[in-house]
Amino acid sequence: MDIAGLLTNFKDCPCGREHTFDTEIVEIGSGLTAKTGGILAGAGFPKKVLLVADRNTLHASPGLLESLKDAGFDVKLLIYEDMIYARVEQVREVEALLEDADGLISVGTGSLNDICRVAAYERKKDFCIFATAPSMDGFASDTAPIIQNNFKSSWQAAQPRIIIGDTAILARAPAILKSSGFGDMVAKYIGLVDWHIARMLIGEYYCPNIAALTKTATDRIFSMADRITEENEEVAGAVMEALVMTGLAMKLAGCSRPASGTEHVISHYLECHKVIRGIWPDYHGRKVGMATVYCNRLYRNLADRLETVHAGPDPTDWEDVYAHYDPKMLPDVKRLNNPTITDQVDPRLLEEKWPEIRRCIYELLPENEALLRAMKAAGAPTEPEEVGVSREFMADAIRYHNYMRHRLHLPRLLPMLGIDPMDYID
Ligand SMILES: [Zn+2]
Ligand SMILES: [Zn+2]
Repeated sequence: MDIAGLLTNFKDCPCGREHTFDTEIVEIGSGLTAKTGGILAGAGFPKKVLLVADRNTLHASPGLLESLKDAGFDVKLLIYEDMIYARVEQVREVEALLEDADGLISVGTGSLNDICRVAAYERKKDFCIFATAPSMDGFASDTAPIIQNNFKSSWQAAQPRIIIGDTAILARAPAILKSSGFGDMVAKYIGLVDWHIARMLIGEYYCPNIAALTKTATDRIFSMADRITEENEEVAGAVMEALVMTGLAMKLAGCSRPASGTEHVISHYLECHKVIRGIWPDYHGRKVGMATVYCNRLYRNLADRLETVHAGPDPTDWEDVYAHYDPKMLPDVKRLNNPTITDQVDPRLLEEKWPEIRRCIYELLPENEALLRAMKAAGAPTEPEEVGVSREFMADAIRYHNYMRHRLHLPRLLPMLGIDPMDYID
């Protein structure tokens, strides 16, 4: 991937900001495992490294250790049985082992990378991700979701200096992980609409170049829906590239707007309520993709059925909101809503901008049928039951998720319009 070229496109950006990121090398291609030692040595990566993997990801990467040793790396290993949850205990474990290493190599995806990204940030170590599945867009991100005391929150993390993806390995990744990556990508459509709405109504920072970059990457993956679960190196490489690209887009924007909107918060709501009860929350992209199907329906139905809107001050019943959160989450929910984000929204402006919001929905979102077809073709879940969520739990998530962020998304505006979102999801 031409990282330097990508940055050149952002020189003198019309948004007025200077865009940068820390990632220097992204190599995605066939047979890269055997070249990994050489790539790292060529980039001046320190020779004393800690390599973190789990049994599955190490098994999926034959030849990696030999390649590193042949290139003169002194490799210490930390191999987990099966990394499902990214917990603070594991972050601390990696940090302790980093005491006598100068660099960190994470072999895997998802939670495994999450603990390493945070440890590399806290210990300020040179960091490389060797990806084993195109399952989520966190590869190039500089934050990571970490569980502490059964509570998941976003931690500051290191953006890897080097990302390597061998398409031979990525293509062989389990279908469920590839479908998950697809779900995380289609979510960007909703995220882009929400970003526009925040720009229109509360003057939030927005960069047209970054939005266009995300849109292009998303369209490309959307068009490959039929081939996502094939064991095909070209497709796996394209998905991996798009996932890395949206991670870079977040770093360029200095916020997660280009890669996540209300669908990610719905997924987070479901996840928090599950994790707090010790239930496996399912793969990130599977929940996010399912939530995207519901949001797409909600947004398009609102646009179809409402030519104009009448808005008033936000009438949120706070006791009702609090009743839909676990007591452990309440302090955060209260903090994030004092003041609450709709305090910044002028009801008159919302009425005035509604036609532009509708246009934006039609321009950016796929048609409901097309989205459903693509999700099914890509093997991604489209109904809550498929990710262990009941209809009632999903309805709660749709109505109450937005209160766990101080951030503007379309569903957060619906109380101001006197609308129950569940009346628009059918
Ligand atoms: Zn810009
Ligand atoms: Zn995501």
